[in-house]
Amino acid sequence: MEKRIIYLDNAATTPMYPEAVETMLPFFTEKFGNPSGQYSLANEGKRAIETARKQIAASIGARPEEIYFTGSGTEADNWAIKMAAHAYRDKGRHIITTKIEHHAVLHTCEALEREGYRVTYLSPDEDGIISPESLLRVLTPDTILVSIMTANNEIGTIEPIEELAKITTERGILFHTDAVQAYGKLPLSVEDGNIAMLSASAHKIGGPKGVGFLYVRRDVRLQSFLHGGAQEKRRRAGTENVPGIVGFAKAAELTFASQEATEARERELRDYFMERVLREIPYARVTGSVKHRLSGHVSFCFQFIEGETVLIMLDSDGICGSSGSACTTGQTEPSHVLTAIGLPEDVAHGALRFTLGRNTTKDDIDFTIDRMKEVIGKIRAMSPYYAKFAARDGRE
Ligand SMILES: *Cc1c(COP(=O)(O)O)cnc(C)c1O
Repeated sequence: MEKRIIYLDNAATTPMYPEAVETMLPFFTEKFGNPSGQYSLANEGKRAIETARKQIAASIGARPEEIYFTGSGTEADNWAIKMAAHAYRDKGRHIITTKIEHHAVLHTCEALEREGYRVTYLSPDEDGIISPESLLRVLTPDTILVSIMTANNEIGTIEPIEELAKITTERGILFHTDAVQAYGKLPLSVEDGNIAMLSASAHKIGGPKGVGFLYVRRDVRLQSFLHGGAQEKRRRAGTENVPGIVGFAKAAELTFASQEATEARERELRDYFMERVLREIPYARVTGSVKHRLSGHVSFCFQFIEGETVLIMLDSDGICGSSGSACTTGQTEPSHVLTAIGLPEDVAHGALRFTLGRNTTKDDIDFTIDRMKEVIGKIRAMSPYYAKFAARDGRE
């Protein structure tokens, strides 16, 4: 019998919609033409890209000419931040971002620091929220760019992006948001003009890997990041990933068509997941805001365990989750996000994240929690610290 897989890592990537795969296939074979070609075979690809661009633009209230397809969400983040910094360097050298960004943003900002830019990394509160007041405090006449994510990938927190963007734009400063986790999960709109740039990625919404987009408001002067051909209105060289773009648009269409229903369904499962765990597993806490949270996002810290150990044991039952630590040079460092929300290192090591998807069932969640209870219980039973702590705790 094939092993049952319970996939609860949808923040890392998602299974593709079969319909999206289907729409891609002809563009690998009979419709393979290079969209830059001068014949009708090429035009098919070109037309498909423009249709996709219109669909994607409509999904965030943008104009088609403001959407640029990229090779990933990472590329969109790099492009937006590096090129905006370069284009507006005459105005100033100060950039503001946050301590809880994805590495695609954080490492890009660090690279700019090495080029001589000054970067302020805002701290979130203990729920992972970046307050508008904290942004107001650090804006200077020298600030040219603010980059704050719409929703966090590790703790699922939704940021008050409308307000943050408004504050920024009112002062004539560019606002970029990494919306890779939020796109397709929340209604997003650039219509009020406060967001100058927005990044998203296909594989987080049931589309293919290796394709993303950057929305660039039409007044933003953004130079090309990749030099070469004249694709994407001379702003993003490289032969277009036609199948990827077509698959992205189809996935977006399906995602947005069912967005509200998915959100309601996932929210119910998420709350059930969190409540059951908090009720049945001692010394657990939710990381990130309970209220301002992505619908399918569940994340905890458990004391007296290592997240990695639990994950390995869950994997043998076919359960796919994620921990909050990144393994670097053989040592496990607690995640920068968990550190930023003020969790002590030993607590942050016990982080586990489960991100639900369109195929997740209540049965999957019950099975996962049952296994977690057992695994966490077993690990704790072997811990001398836990025995001591539990005994003392029990007396009080
Ligand atoms: C996944 C992710 C990215 C990177 O997108 P890729 O398309 O995988 O490069 C960037 N930011 C956030 C918040 C993400 O979750």
